[in-house]
Amino acid sequence: MEGQHSQGPHEHGDAARALAARHGNPAGLLPAALSRARAGTTAEPGQWAPQVAHTLGMPAAAGLGPATYFADLATPHAKRHVRVCTATACFATQGGRHLAQIERELGVPADGTDHKGETSLQTVRCLGYCYAGPAALDGTLPRTGTDLADQLAGRTPPRAPDIPVTDTTGDPVLLSGILAGRPAWDTWQHTLAHLRPEDVRREIAVSGLRGRGGAGFPVAAKWAAAGARPGTVLVANGDEGDPGSYADKLLMEQDPDRVLEGLALACYACGARRGIVLVRSEYPRALARLHQALAHAVADGHLADTDDTGDPKPVVEIAQGAGSYVAGEETALIARLEGARGCARPRPPYPTDRGLWGTPTVVNNVETLASVPWIIHHGGDRYARYGTSQESGTKLVCLSERFVRPGAFEVALGTPLRRIVTELAGGLKSGNLAVLQIGGPLGGFLTGDDLDIPLTSQALAARGAALGHAGIVAFDTDTDPAELLRHIWEFAAQESCGACSPCRIGTRQGLELATTGTTPRQPYERLARLMSEASLCAFGRRVPAAVRSLARAYGKELAGWDR
Ligand code: SF4
Repeated sequence: MEGQHSQGPHEHGDAARALAARHGNPAGLLPAALSRARAGTTAEPGQWAPQVAHTLGMPAAAGLGPATYFADLATPHAKRHVRVCTATACFATQGGRHLAQIERELGVPADGTDHKGETSLQTVRCLGYCYAGPAALDGTLPRTGTDLADQLAGRTPPRAPDIPVTDTTGDPVLLSGILAGRPAWDTWQHTLAHLRPEDVRREIAVSGLRGRGGAGFPVAAKWAAAGARPGTVLVANGDEGDPGSYADKLLMEQDPDRVLEGLALACYACGARRGIVLVRSEYPRALARLHQALAHAVADGHLADTDDTGDPKPVVEIAQGAGSYVAGEETALIARLEGARGCARPRPPYPTDRGLWGTPTVVNNVETLASVPWIIHHGGDRYARYGTSQESGTKLVCLSERFVRPGAFEVALGTPLRRIVTELAGGLKSGNLAVLQIGGPLGGFLTGDDLDIPLTSQALAARGAALGHAGIVAFDTDTDPAELLRHIWEFAAQESCGACSPCRIGTRQGLELATTGTTPRQPYERLARLMSEASLCAFGRRVPAAVRSLARAYGKELAGWDR
């Protein structure tokens, strides 16, 4: 059944666990053990997490740390556990009113349980149904639409459409399997027989492929930094947390073989014998499909079962996230795999030097890896013909429910935003466009007057926005700018990992200011500068820029926030 999977050898194959065993560190066993302990209990972490840690020979704090940090572990889980999306695209549909409707309907407060302890309700920030929201997961079963509360109450039939998918390139890279029916694993077999690791690295360098998860770092440079040192680990980052983007979800659900093939090619290029796919827990269908694809890939001999042979094929394992936006950042992701709280760590050292359990670790986003088989098959120069001279290739752009034609579109980088928003998406289904959020919470906001720019990082940066994961969420004129501002700060305050005070305190103060509705002037200017300059990771540094771009988009309606 979807969302569930049999307990094959790879179910337990959390690479952190395997590496932990190798390095004699039981902390790698913690994430899965804590998740098992949380399932079906409404008790506070203090009542079960210390015992989990003790069982692994660790102090109570080692269990309490992650159990009180990750949303999945901190919130109660009753027999019926409902997760409701409160992220940006779902907020845009009805101004966030669906949450109150569901609380009333189920008789459960957000992040609590009903009085009998039989139903629990967890707020989550993005389930990847931004094209059809608002959305919820009832257990692992998706529900979407403005009658969400009625669906959860069983009054209207459940609804969860598949992601609408469109290619605009004529020869898709990322959608080559989903739309063009190109089989996976051929390139991998050809590579093993005919290419050396340096051949793969060279083609990726020629292609100009950059990370598609948000940072946009050149893939070839990251691979080179790891230096093919012994013990190198490859992590496919499927912790797609940007509200508004469901590109990785699409690839993991509908073409998981291609994701695994890309990971295998990356492992080969980097001399890594071990790969991990980290999938967010909010994507149960993606988890199930990847587990199935992995089992088939091992059975068909594409991937190894054990790394004790001299076989160049890597051992690949799947790990599950536990509900944290920042834990998608690569150092935080590594901390999570090591059983710690998913907090960002200072860099240097970079993960390519000292990553998972101290070994060189390359973290590539799922969409990035899904491009690799096409590039190796067709050649890097052909990939470089897509896009612009500065930013090559294609990108999956995800459009939110407010558009006439929401869905995932593969476009060449450099495609004018106006073409995407008006021609491909068909404009808004009702009302007039107020603002667009592009690139998730760390991206920025644009107005209808900003659409004559190409979809590139450079052009967006010049407008105070960012490409991020290229999710585009539309807001119509029914949206209250002050409520949207508050939503942005609330997201920031809830998802800040708390590792550094400028962001931990700054996001709370920002939320307080946005909640009181007063016009901030000097105090906010100081706060924004401190966050931008002194935060440890991009999350805290980017929040003021995102707020500034929102304020500029709305003009005098958000006066004072444009600092
Ligand atoms: Fe954590 Fe925010 Fe600091 Fe990043 S900037 S390390 S998210 S507290």
